[in-house]
Formats: sequence, C-alpha cells, structure tokens
Amino acid sequence: MTAVLPQSAGAVPDDDWTAAVAAARAFEARHETIDGFRYPDGIRIAVNFTADFDAMLFRRALDEPPMQKAKGEYGGRVGIWRLIELFDAHGVKATFFTPGRICELYPQALRAAAASGHELADHMWEHLTPKTDALQRDHIRKTADALAQIGGVRPIGTRSYYQQAHLKEAGYLYNSEGRSSRLPYYAADANVENCLLILPFHFSIDDAQFYNFGWFTSEPSAQRLTDPERIMEMWWDAFEQQYETGNGYLNICLHPFVSGRALRTHLLGQLIERMKGKEGVWFPTCAQLARYVLDRFPPQSLKF
Ligand SMILES: [Zn+2]
Repeated sequence: MTAVLPQSAGAVPDDDWTAAVAAARAFEARHETIDGFRYPDGIRIAVNFTADFDAMLFRRALDEPPMQKAKGEYGGRVGIWRLIELFDAHGVKATFFTPGRICELYPQALRAAAASGHELADHMWEHLTPKTDALQRDHIRKTADALAQIGGVRPIGTRSYYQQAHLKEAGYLYNSEGRSSRLPYYAADANVENCLLILPFHFSIDDAQFYNFGWFTSEPSAQRLTDPERIMEMWWDAFEQQYETGNGYLNICLHPFVSGRALRTHLLGQLIERMKGKEGVWFPTCAQLARYVLDRFPPQSLKF
C-alpha cells in the first residue's frame, strides 16, 4: 500500500490568510536587516561568548526543588570563576548577562569579571519580567545601577523581554534576545518605535539545552544530558559553516552553573583554541560589537 498524504479539510480561509500576510508585513515594517554588512578588514566571523549568570534565580522563579536551586548556586560559587579564568587564559572578552540581584549575591565574581575587561550586561532584576510598566522601569533602573556600581560602567546591553520603550529610556542600545536573522539586525516595537540593535542567539547553541537535567521543569522523558564532546562538535559545526561562507556571527550562550563543570570548561577551552587557529576570528564583547555595528551600519529606515 502506498503512503497517503494527509488531506486538508479545505483551503486556508481567505480571512486567515489575509491576517497571516498582514502579520508578515507588520513584522517586516519593524525589522531591518543590514545591507552590505561587513566586519573590519580581515575579519571573517565574530564570536560572542555570552554567559547568563542567573545562578539559582531562574530555578527559584520556577519554584523548583532545593536540589535544582543548589545546582544554580554552584554557578555563583564555582562556575562563574571557572568561566572567568577560562576566558582570561585564552584572551577572550565575554559578556556576562547578569540579573541585578546577583550583585548582592556574588559581588566578588562580578568585580573580577569587570577587572578582566569582560562586559556586565542586564539580565533582568530577579530573572522575571514584571507585568506593569512601573515595575519594569523600576527593575531596569535598579539592575543598571547595581551593575554600574560594581563594574564601574553603565550597561548598554540586555538579554530580556522588557518593553523596548523602557529599555531605550534607560539608555540601552542592544538586546541579545531574538532570532530573526543570522547577523545583527534592528528591531522596533509594535508601534515601529524604540528601535534596538539585536545580537541574535538561538537555543540550538545554548548550553542549557543539552547539559541541564531539569531544564524548564521538563518531564523526565524529555531530559537530555548530551556528551560534552558532541556539544563541542555541534558548536564547531555552527562556527565552521559560517566561517567558510564568511561574514559569520556566532553568539554562544553559556550558563556558569552549566558550563562551569570541569569537563565542560576544559573542552570549551579546546574549542576556543580551535577557533583561534583560524585566521580572521574576532572575539568582541557584545558591547564592542554593538558599537561597531551602530557606528558603521546605523539603521536606514528605522529611527534609532
Ligand atoms: Zn537566564
């Protein structure tokens, strides 16, 4: 017997289709990709190593069991130090997306990161997005103040889901949250205002997707603990494909409580060395890259 493709009950109703096209057009109107994007001479790819230093805060927000929270705490006590030492040993400047509350919990680690020239950026206050405007603005301000006090520099970047109007008001230039393009791009809000630069990352190159037992309160049957060697190969493949085609961009999302385990940190060092073995690989912080893009390729149709 031959396979039969499922039959639809009929065509998509015209009203639905019209709405879908309108949604696509509205999306286009508030997004702008960068024509002719290129890096400084000699650079083929930029690699942003980003680490979401949320420790136990997200586990706490999800009301996970004590063991899960303890796993997060490990990130603040050990993992963060391992990552700082790793990046320093390889001369790579990273961006640590940090909830404001972490400044109270692990100030020494943040001071060390800043002293090594790494960027401290916003990752919400307690890893939650408040529903009201007033509370969003309050959380944005408190986090910026705390990071500025500890790192000596006011943050210009975030990885969050706040209203863009509030982020712009607080002086933010970029959000490393969004996946609408493979290169940095611009995005305005629903009113086609409050444009930010987006430094895209995708969960397919996020360590927690592959290493974390208990990710997003997933069911036991959905648990994944992938061999670290396999993860490094995946990240290498993502790197190599873009290196070969040129004008590549890779934003590798780590978590200190996940990648700060000895075997994973060790292999990460090997991956960085492998990348450094190629000509024309740039390891900027997100802030460095954002300033370069804004300077060289400001948005043409959207108002920044
Ligand atoms: Zn996070």
